[in-house]
Amino acid sequence: MKNLAENWDVVVVGAGIAGCMTAGTTALKGNGNVSVLLMDRNPPTEAGKKTVLGWVCGDAVGEHHIKYIHERIGTTYGKPEMENRVTAVYVYSPDMKVRVPFEGPGYVLDRPKFAKRLLDDALKDGVEFRGNVQATELIQDNGTIVGLHGQTVGPGVNQPFEIRSKLIIDTSGMSTKLRRNLPIPSHIEKEINKDDVEPTARLNAKLRDGVEVEPFHCDIYLDAEKAPGGYLWLFPKSEDKVNIGLGIQQKRSPKPLSA
Ligand SMILES: Cc1cc2nc3c(=O)[nH]c(=O)nc-3n(C[C@H](O)[C@H](O)[C@H](O)COP(=O)(O)OP(=O)(O)OC[C@H]3O[C@@H](n4cnc5c(N)ncnc54)[C@H](O)[C@@H]3O)c2cc1C
Repeated sequence: MKNLAENWDVVVVGAGIAGCMTAGTTALKGNGNVSVLLMDRNPPTEAGKKTVLGWVCGDAVGEHHIKYIHERIGTTYGKPEMENRVTAVYVYSPDMKVRVPFEGPGYVLDRPKFAKRLLDDALKDGVEFRGNVQATELIQDNGTIVGLHGQTVGPGVNQPFEIRSKLIIDTSGMSTKLRRNLPIPSHIEKEINKDDVEPTARLNAKLRDGVEVEPFHCDIYLDAEKAPGGYLWLFPKSEDKVNIGLGIQQKRSPKPLSA
């Protein structure tokens, strides 16, 4: 159990989808016998927000994933985090002549509300959350990870801290410093292959008066010119609101882009 010397059973770094689910499930299954700390560099209202620019995500999720969670930990999602229900994803060929339907129910999420729901659930399960704290490096002792160093972030603060834990779970996303600087030999991939990186842009937009979309399916366009190595997407949130975005494979982008 937790004591004043900041010793935890489990510390989860990064309160995105993976972090909230991992921390919450660990606390739930631990039945009050496992202390779990979840930390994020963002404030509590923005835990899970990937970049300072916004909630970067296409927001689409298949219903089978939601059922998977329900069957294992009993959670049921609904409004407001499940913003729109769809029945299929249509994938269009580069020349737009072929449309491949992937039938099956799914949802377009309200991403900030979904993030709030995940964090609220983790807190109810007994997780302690700390926002505005950034993990900077792992501490090893005799070839075993035993803790981490970090610092508080945000305007005017930069306090270093140290936390000890029996288990540290890194759910801090794709560009994690912790993984890159892992201080023990491991099979964990430290660097992400640049060919696997897709710079993306996305916008949640209200359509002009008189312009509407069919709100029951998500569309993906494999347009090799506009989105080389990636695709364009249009996911409806309602008849007049969409999540629209573009991802390009870095090595095929017309100009060099940073991830
Ligand atoms: C443009 C785009 C569109 C996408 N569309 C979809 C889609 O439609 N459907 C779908 O299922 N998936 C989609 N994805 C993928 C999906 O967003 C990711 O798979 C998912 O968000 C990964 O969750 P995560 O919890 O692993 O990491 P993240 O969401 O990246 O969360 C990581 C968290 O860790 C925190 N963090 C990072 N470093 C530190 C640190 N050092 N210390 C403390 N905290 C830290 C961050 O603040 C963040 O809150 C999309 C991704 C992108 C980029």
